[in-house]
Amino acid sequence: MVRYKDSQELPVLVEEPVIREAVLRLGRDISQDYASKTPLLIGVLKGCFVFMADLARALTVPCEVEFMRLSSYGAGATSSGVIHVISDIQTSISGRDIIIVEDIVDSGTTISFLMEHLISHSPASIKVCTMFLKGSRANFPFNLDYVGMEIGAEFVVGYGLDYAEQYRFLPDLRVLK
Ligand code: 5GP
Ligand code: MG
Repeated sequence: MVRYKDSQELPVLVEEPVIREAVLRLGRDISQDYASKTPLLIGVLKGCFVFMADLARALTVPCEVEFMRLSSYGAGATSSGVIHVISDIQTSISGRDIIIVEDIVDSGTTISFLMEHLISHSPASIKVCTMFLKGSRANFPFNLDYVGMEIGAEFVVGYGLDYAEQYRFLPDLRVLK
């Protein structure tokens, strides 16, 4: 299912059914770990919107959702390294069990920033769930609690991820050539 002629030219890295399986596994793991809780999923827009919707529906525990908007990449394919909060969460997270939901973790800069930002609001707990992890990042200063799958270092699009706002709608993950 490809809706842009030029999307067809992008090689598929992860097929849709493989993504679906990984999301279901994350849903099972999180549901087990939060058996008697109602986690607050905090998604990082815009990239998380597809994954967040699939993950929330893969849970067998109730959850609430909030969204933040950060920017680090601007319109390009390389990180500027500077993160801005464009839109903050609109609810109190004090005493809540937070799960940060990210589309993809690369250097870890975004997640580190977010952890620091959210921890200052005294949640009961805070964990990280990312659909994709670029390379194996063993030396992060924090734990990635839930990882959908590890991929290579290529710049990828689809499943919510964009290049200059294109390709977010692709149901699979593709490599931007
Ligand atoms: P980090 O701060 O971990 O280096 O980068 C995380 C953020 O960069 C992600 O939330 C995502 O917005 C963006 N990003 C990192 N790698 C990719 C990629 O391969 N494709 C796209 N579209 N965005 C990426
Ligand atoms: Mg993101």
